[in-house]
Amino acid sequence: MHTSKNSANLLNYQGIYPCPVCRLGEIKSLSLMEAFACDCGNNIFTADLDQQLLQLPTMQPPLTWYWNGTGWRRGELAGREWKWYHWLLVVGFVALPTTLVALSAYIFPATPGSNLYWLPTVWIGLAFLSHLVIVGWLIIEFYQFPVWTYLSISWRLLLER
Ligand SMILES: [Zn+2]
Repeated sequence: MHTSKNSANLLNYQGIYPCPVCRLGEIKSLSLMEAFACDCGNNIFTADLDQQLLQLPTMQPPLTWYWNGTGWRRGELAGREWKWYHWLLVVGFVALPTTLVALSAYIFPATPGSNLYWLPTVWIGLAFLSHLVIVGWLIIEFYQFPVWTYLSISWRLLLER
């Protein structure tokens, strides 16, 4: 038996909750449907009140959030867990090519004063940045963060202001 205070904090179809996708809008239940919709995007969420969870079924695998009474906790994606050694791979993937480029620039330095003296430095920066972008993209994909939804909603809110 829940007290009235606790039940007010439970996920229910009468409540209004922050949108877990864009974190900018609010989600309300659609009348006569066991679903929630965000007022700033066109995301429709399905809900399971027994488990206090919200799902975005348009993503594969579906994204899940659990309501803890005050905020959303991101559910685990089956078989997708970020382990400590993933960070080693990330650091290695960025550091290794950058180090190789830097090492070759160190071993075969450009002649000081020559036209392309700046090239090794720029090359090192490019190697670092390009690998960083790839890794960042992989992490976004890993977490299935709906980055385009988030950006388009932020952009629209910005224009409306
Ligand atoms: Zn939203």
